[in-house]
Amino acid sequence: MKIKNNLKEIIVETGIKMLAEGLTVGTWGNFSVRDPETGLIYITPSGMAYNSLQTEDVVVLDKDANLADGKRIPSIEHPMHLALYAARADVNAVVHTHPIYSTVLGVNGMELPAISEDFAQIVGYKMSCSKYALPGTKELGQNVVKGLGKENGVLLPNHGTVVVGANMPAALTICHVVEKSAQTYILAKSIGTPNIIPDADIKAMQDYVQNEYGQKGA
Ligand SMILES: [Zn+2]
Repeated sequence: MKIKNNLKEIIVETGIKMLAEGLTVGTWGNFSVRDPETGLIYITPSGMAYNSLQTEDVVVLDKDANLADGKRIPSIEHPMHLALYAARADVNAVVHTHPIYSTVLGVNGMELPAISEDFAQIVGYKMSCSKYALPGTKELGQNVVKGLGKENGVLLPNHGTVVVGANMPAALTICHVVEKSAQTYILAKSIGTPNIIPDADIKAMQDYVQNEYGQKGA
């Protein structure tokens, strides 16, 4: 199957962006994109610094985790990425990181409800906290798929977050909105009782973004 260098470049550029934007530190986290044409998954290698990543370090897997291209060992969390792509046809990018405020909620086993418009529009009704499983296991993948449901983000207990998007720019935007929302929620909870956006309003906002938002016909 055709291996695409531009998709490897997206992985390299995402690593640099995530370090620059404070979404990860060191070699923590992992991310991938799926080529909708071939179904191949382009994922970060295990334990390599993002600022020295080259396109030849990117690992390409098929949906059953067979190596399609690359010389590195794929991220330990590749079973989770494969499980998410198998479960969600609308998803072509997966990002897993350990941002501080989102992780705090996961440490407490709490969920993150929709408390702001941007969250309601692009993340969903809420981010659940998935059931615990050890990193790198198939069980973790199953728990994450279940916890994610139809939304675009899920909290991992005592670990971090997983977000999904139609493409990598969308997934990175969701990453930022999730972490900002987690920070806002924790601060709001510390001085009072946060108001949660009602489900009907969330649905209306999501419909609006899908159907009306932006420069129509442009
Ligand atoms: Zn992790």
